[in-house]
Amino acid sequence: MGVEVIPRMTTNHTTDLDILVVGGGAAGLSAALLLARARRRVAVVDGGRPRNAPAAHMHGFLSRDGVPPARLLAAGRVEVTGYGADVIDAEVDTLARRDDGSFIARLDNGRTLRSRSVLVATGLRDELPDIPGVRERWGRDVLHCPYCHGHEVRDRPVGVLGTGPAAVFQAQLVRQWSADTVLFAHTLDIATTDRRRLDARGIAVVEGLVAGLDIHGDALRGVTLATGEIVPREAVFLPPRMIPRDALLTGLGCAVDDGWVRVDGAGRTSVPGVVAVGNVVDPRMQVLTAAGMAAAAAGMLNADLIEQDITDAMAHSADSVESGAVSHAGQGIGR
Ligand SMILES: Cc1cc2nc3c(=O)[nH]c(=O)nc-3n(C[C@H](O)[C@H](O)[C@H](O)COP(=O)(O)OP(=O)(O)OC[C@H]3O[C@@H](n4cnc5c(N)ncnc54)[C@H](O)[C@@H]3O)c2cc1C
Repeated sequence: MGVEVIPRMTTNHTTDLDILVVGGGAAGLSAALLLARARRRVAVVDGGRPRNAPAAHMHGFLSRDGVPPARLLAAGRVEVTGYGADVIDAEVDTLARRDDGSFIARLDNGRTLRSRSVLVATGLRDELPDIPGVRERWGRDVLHCPYCHGHEVRDRPVGVLGTGPAAVFQAQLVRQWSADTVLFAHTLDIATTDRRRLDARGIAVVEGLVAGLDIHGDALRGVTLATGEIVPREAVFLPPRMIPRDALLTGLGCAVDDGWVRVDGAGRTSVPGVVAVGNVVDPRMQVLTAAGMAAAAAGMLNADLIEQDITDAMAHSADSVESGAVSHAGQGIGR
């Protein structure tokens, strides 16, 4: 079946949209797909830096398990543009709400977009510890999510770097994939009860600061301690500090709770017309769940726009009736 391209109103520098989607990762594209199929005027602006880009393969996405992350997004772009949405490779620099409740976005390529609503899916940034080798190996054999990559390192010698308190539970979690799991205490002060719980499952604690990673060729071989000792490991996990890319949302005045922009069950922020989905509002979201949350939120956003459409249509028909009544009365007088 052919796909109808919906005409949109375009002037030199301003495009009128129903929904501006900021961020074209799994969440943004998933929302755009639903909204474009619903015949809304949609544009996705994407900076092209999805969080899982360093990983060679994406796991846990039913029917796409093991594909390169970029392939999923490329397929998503084809689907979204096939229904008439625009995908623009650019960054949104600023987003402002106008007095009439619509939004103006300024892009780093000089374009300006005007939209009735915005759906922000800008993801988060993983702040990594300043340990030599970690950044270079991130997403390859330095990992954070065993659900994403644990199966690929199952039964191998693995470690967890104690770069934050979450590492203690992370070690217990990773132990599910490998009996040879070691927790590097690094800067952690591990409580006695936690040590007993780790010991009970055979997770050794290696004391002392981690000085770097031992890398040979293109593979991790071990963890180097400040003493110079190298503990052989084939992969390490660590809990990164997750920082939402939410400057556009906070700039619009969206309320924040405990460091994360507050949304309701439909992704609505505290600012009318602004929806936020995926990792920018929830660090636990994986690719499939971010896409799912976005699709659900897009449906609710469409319903909110329909409410506006009804209000506008009723106001318009009231105006017409009023002017029609005047002209009818006029005709009557003339008879
Ligand atoms: C190394 C690694 C491996 C992972 N592996 C897996 C895995 O195997 N399976 C899994 O389910 N999950 C995995 N994840 C988690 C996964 O990456 C996230 O759950 C997913 O990317 C969240 O999708 P999102 O759309 O919310 O954000 P993202 O995918 O991060 O997309 C956000 C997009 O918004 C864009 N953007 C940001 N700011 C702007 C702006 N101002 N203007 C325009 N565009 C902007 C970015 O450039 C980016 O393209 C992994 C994470 C990491 C770090």
